Amino acid sequence: MPPPGPWHIPGITERLMALHAEGITMREVAERLNCEFETGLTRNAVIGKCRRLCMPFRDPPVRVRKPRIYKYRPRVKPKPPRVEPNGTVTIYQLRSDDCRFPLGDFPFVFCGKEQQDGSSYCPEHFRICHGIVQRKDDSAVQMKAWA
Ligand SMILES: [Zn+2]
Repeated sequence: MPPPGPWHIPGITERLMALHAEGITMREVAERLNCEFETGLTRNAVIGKCRRLCMPFRDPPVRVRKPRIYKYRPRVKPKPPRVEPNGTVTIYQLRSDDCRFPLGDFPFVFCGKEQQDGSSYCPEHFRICHGIVQRKDDSAVQMKAWA
């Protein structure tokens, strides 16, 4: 025969009913019963016993929440600099009218100067790309096209 549980202690059920009528929380009821009867009851054990005794349900305690105060903080994303310190632009900064002449090794950067009309390059890189050499007498000559 198993040992009798805490609910077999004389007077504990009556004390539970009295504490239940006080309107305190079930956790507090369990703590008080544990102090008075030297038991190890939990909140859930007290709730279960109340249900088995068909005690009326109680309204849940009303929690008063402090209203939240939202502070407006504007989202400010730092904008990357339009031009790299050496005057070049990355592929993400490249606009449709920027010179697309690649400079350096990976990761590539681009010239970024204003394009010459009808070309993807600025005048300087247009000459480099098309093999145009500037002579001393200011006339330009196109070198032999690449094979
Ligand atoms: Zn260029």
